[in-house]
Amino acid sequence: MIILEGVSKRYVDIKNEAPALDNVSLHIKPREFVVVVGASGAGKSTLLKMITREELPNSGRIIVGGIDYSHIKRKHVPHLRRRIGVVFQDFKLLPDRTVFENVAFALEIADHTHKEIMAIVPKVLELVGLTGKETKFPHQLSGGEKQRVAIARSVARQPRILIADEPTGNLDNKHTWDIVELIQKINALGTTVIFTTHNLEIVHRLNERTLRIEDGRLVADIAQGKVRVGR
Ligand code: ADP
Repeated sequence: MIILEGVSKRYVDIKNEAPALDNVSLHIKPREFVVVVGASGAGKSTLLKMITREELPNSGRIIVGGIDYSHIKRKHVPHLRRRIGVVFQDFKLLPDRTVFENVAFALEIADHTHKEIMAIVPKVLELVGLTGKETKFPHQLSGGEKQRVAIARSVARQPRILIADEPTGNLDNKHTWDIVELIQKINALGTTVIFTTHNLEIVHRLNERTLRIEDGRLVADIAQGKVRVGR
């Protein structure tokens, strides 16, 4: 369960400056698929950074998987982050490593043994449909394939939560739907997904619970099956 209670975040400590997040409260259940929409600068990334604990709120409470962020010890933060996978619009792959090595690296830094890595990487590459591309470098892949590598890397450690921050922002139409379907599959396997997008067609087609952020405020929380976008 992800719980935010009255969370506010100001990056700049100026009285008249509007907060990036303003008194946001929400609950996300395990295995839920949640779409987050809002204009550029609305506060979507800040909301995600509250959940990954990349940024700390100025006020309010955040509890993820039973861990209250205001009480967490510093040394436990890396462990917490491992429970949360993140994929970005710009993939963030290591350019001088192969597909296999990009995924293996995420496991190496999490102290997996060589034997475990050799067992896990082929499985996640199969999950994301990249079997056969193990020795390719990122520049030899299409945008959709790069995003599959990024997704493989983020799910290799079996996180409970997958945060996808505009994962289709750099992709053409065909690859967009491939990636949306892959993320739906990962959700169906039991991972909570939080997915931000500007693309209203995705919001409409997914038809999942949708949060709308405007000027740092949560202005709408539309239940699954009730999403209607401009048609
Ligand atoms: P979105 O993801 O919806 O585009 P953000 O959460 O990135 O929105 O930004 C919300 C507001 O916070 C914006 O006004 C933005 O300029 C500001 N902001 C975001 N990150 C920082 C930062 N590191 N320092 C100062 N202001 C920031």
